[in-house]
Amino acid sequence: MSSAVQTLKNSGLRHTGSREEVLDLFLSADHALAHSDIEHGLGPDHDRVTIYRTLRTFLDKGIIHKVLDDEGGTKYALCRETCTDGHHQHEHVHFKCETCGQTTCLDEVHIPAVSLPQGYNRKEMNLLIQGVCSDCNK
Ligand SMILES: [Zn+2]
Ligand SMILES: [Zn+2]
Ligand SMILES: [Zn+2]
Repeated sequence: MSSAVQTLKNSGLRHTGSREEVLDLFLSADHALAHSDIEHGLGPDHDRVTIYRTLRTFLDKGIIHKVLDDEGGTKYALCRETCTDGHHQHEHVHFKCETCGQTTCLDEVHIPAVSLPQGYNRKEMNLLIQGVCSDCNK
């Protein structure tokens, strides 16, 4: 069984061709994917709505998380382990490389604790650091 199929099974999701293909894209990428990357990766026989719904389902099931990019774009990346209770258990830094344009999860780098004024409830945190990644620094 491929790891994509295994992940769908573990998350209680029905196996469909597009779910498996989208998941395969994430499993083979080592950086976050934008909606357009996924469209290009899948080819023309997948429509935008199906891809959108698939991403939505994966977000809800804790398989992928949102990566806020610069300029207001959204990318998505695999959760290292399935997030069963919201995505706040892995609040890590994201790094956007100005040279290759790719955004990577720095899973080991946690977002420092931030205390909010009274009356504010935190739902999610995003921290994007921009610079040059280790591949481009060689
Ligand atoms: Zn997550
Ligand atoms: Zn780079
Ligand atoms: Zn991430």
